[in-house]
Amino acid sequence: MTKKIFRSTCLVALLVFFSSLVLIMGVLYDYFSDVLLHQLKMQTSLVSQGVSTEGIRYFDGLDEEHYRITWMDASGRILYDSQSDSASMENHLEREEIRQALAEGYGESNRYSATLMERSFYSAKRLDDGSILRLGTTHGTIFILLLGMSQPIFLVFAIAIILSVVLAARLSSNIVKPFNTLDLDNPLDTAHYEELSPLLRRIASQQSQLKLKEAQLQQKQEELHAVISNMKEGMILLSADGTILSINPAAAALLNTALDTDSFVKHPQAGTPLSASCNNRTLIHAADSALAGNPQEQKAVFDSRHYQITASPVLSEGTVSGAALLLLDITEKEKAEQMRREFTANVSHELKTPLHVISGYAELIKNNMVKEADICPFADKIYTEAQRMAKLVEDIMNLSRLDEGAGDMQFEPLDLYDAAASAVRSLSPEACDAGVTVELSGDAAVINGIPQLLSGIVYNLCDNAIKYNRRGGSVAVSIQDKPDQAVLTVRDTGIGILPEHQEHIFERFYRVDKSHSKQLGGTGLGLSIVKHAVMIHHAQIFLHSVLAEGTVVTIVFPKTSPNP
Ligand code: ADP
Repeated sequence: MTKKIFRSTCLVALLVFFSSLVLIMGVLYDYFSDVLLHQLKMQTSLVSQGVSTEGIRYFDGLDEEHYRITWMDASGRILYDSQSDSASMENHLEREEIRQALAEGYGESNRYSATLMERSFYSAKRLDDGSILRLGTTHGTIFILLLGMSQPIFLVFAIAIILSVVLAARLSSNIVKPFNTLDLDNPLDTAHYEELSPLLRRIASQQSQLKLKEAQLQQKQEELHAVISNMKEGMILLSADGTILSINPAAAALLNTALDTDSFVKHPQAGTPLSASCNNRTLIHAADSALAGNPQEQKAVFDSRHYQITASPVLSEGTVSGAALLLLDITEKEKAEQMRREFTANVSHELKTPLHVISGYAELIKNNMVKEADICPFADKIYTEAQRMAKLVEDIMNLSRLDEGAGDMQFEPLDLYDAAASAVRSLSPEACDAGVTVELSGDAAVINGIPQLLSGIVYNLCDNAIKYNRRGGSVAVSIQDKPDQAVLTVRDTGIGILPEHQEHIFERFYRVDKSHSKQLGGTGLGLSIVKHAVMIHHAQIFLHSVLAEGTVVTIVFPKTSPNP
């Protein structure tokens, strides 16, 4: 752009220079021609007066270099000529200025020489006697003038060229300067040409739009990055040849691959194939299958945790351009499945035993195979087993409700001491039968709880403390009211629990001594129900037990228990 402006400016300057030169020369040439003609006319008039007065004698001794003087009679015969021999000169009557002077008294004309190098000016005047006096002079044509002035013209031309170049260079750089100093990030803040305003306003508005879009894009990228980087699920993106393109920290941890940054978009080793970064055959097989265009869902074990691998091909214009692998931790789900299977098997087993007993005794009675005296004990046996079944079914139903979160139950303020007193009261026959004394101590402690669950907690703990006690033993139930907590403690002097069983007794159907528990009417679900109910109350449970000395179960309830 600078070059173009420079060239144009130089060209314009030179054109202006040449046109001015031609114009000035032309005007000057015309002006001086007029001046010359005027002088010629005056001289003609002066010489005419001299010739009229003195006749041919006027020319004697006349030394005239600048003008050619010709005097002729009315017939055109030359009487005198200052430059040529008048006798040898041709008749001049046909000359324009002569004809004009003969006709009008005065005439003038000018003619170019044959070589166009000179121009002759003539002025003719008719004298009173009818003769004609003509004065002529010559001067160079405009070409001669230019030729004569060539030196100064070249000097001026050279100066003009230098000036044009210097000024054009400065001018073009000055014109271009605002363009070069434009701050395109803040186009409206810089000084610029007024003509550029619409363009710069457009650039500014487009730039603000671009910035906005960039910010939105950046935000979305950061959100996506944050989600993918922080999600527990592993995510791996593969190229069409099975090379890892991206891997998030969760997946990298599973593959034992160190990421060079915590960024999802960085891959651990550029161009590393998945098969080189991991040795899990299931994952590699799923990836290969997805890269072949077949989506896959597989289960795999990483570091003794179960994962579901979802491998999907990434299609671009109908062809597989890569694969996306999602690794979902399903350990808990698997555990829950396992527990459900075990629970179903346990329930069936637990129900089968009393059912067999009931149907066996009932069959004997039906077939009259029981003596009259034994019917009553048999019926008692059937009743006991039916009661056990009923208790089992009730416990299972309670547990199922708790598994679902007890959403239908309402929290309300209630006194833990009242709940404990009610449980102790209702268990006094069992305590009496077992020869165990039960004592309740402490203060009223109001907590936010679900009445039936709270009763279940206290009842089950007290029931166990009585059941697994020794004759003559004791159970101490105490309630402590603290500023933020209410503490329920059930302490017995019973058989105690070995440390290896302590962590399992809250599992479903877990019993330290199965036959002893069954004999005492236990279902193996009591402490599971307690554990769930405690969780729903956001409380904490602590167990301390010494074999043959006794067991202490402590539950700490927060007073501000939120709704489940
Ligand atoms: P169960 O219906 O058999 O009592 P629980 O879930 O209430 O089932 O208890 C599980 C097991 O924990 C019991 O079978 C018993 O062996 C043991 N256990 C629970 N409470 C006590 C306790 N206070 N003292 C000794 N053992 C206990």
